[in-house]
Amino acid sequence: MRILIVEDDPDLNRQLVSAMADAGYVTDSTHDGEDGHFLGDTEPYDAVILDLGLPVMDGVTVLEKWRRNNRNMPVLILTARDRWSDKVSGFDAGADDYVSKPFHMEEILARVRALLRRSSGHASSEITCGDLVLDTRAARVIHAGSSIKLTSLEYRLLAYMMHHQGRVISRTELVEHLYDQDFDRDSNTIEVFVGRVRKKLGGDLIKTVRGLGYRLGDAQDNS
Ligand code: CA
Repeated sequence: MRILIVEDDPDLNRQLVSAMADAGYVTDSTHDGEDGHFLGDTEPYDAVILDLGLPVMDGVTVLEKWRRNNRNMPVLILTARDRWSDKVSGFDAGADDYVSKPFHMEEILARVRALLRRSSGHASSEITCGDLVLDTRAARVIHAGSSIKLTSLEYRLLAYMMHHQGRVISRTELVEHLYDQDFDRDSNTIEVFVGRVRKKLGGDLIKTVRGLGYRLGDAQDNS
């Protein structure tokens, strides 16, 4: 899961980036609205944390521009305490949730988890696929009752596939959602990671769909 953080307060920005990394997400971060708008407009993010008071371009304008351009990723806005009008204009601009400053990082993390699972159609914080369970709170995967030891990239891969189970996911999509923008992305390495995760899971939970990509679990009925 790849998350964009747009926050001009350098300390807060750093804290958000490190909390997201600890929770198993990959992040891109920026300090001004124009750069944030550009990233959100051109890169595929699974969720965005967007401060409203930003230099160059304010958060509400950024959000309005994204939505007008059909950028539909879930967006959590950060608002100043007691500014109820900020919340209203944020929601009207297309925000999915908000947190007022100052906040507890745990609350941001819980809200991001909720946004991620809701946007992929899951209501519970535990996402299951057969005897595979993704515990999004503890950031771990349990297979047939036992916890699986995964590296952070392997966890990101499996968590992304669990959120989007039943759907064919291309290598390009995986690369875009597992690495940040500065990473030297090579879609061939994805094959290696899929191979490793498969081995750890045993069986053939992750299927290769020739020429298209990978699918976790049974094919979704989209009819
Ligand atoms: Ca600010």
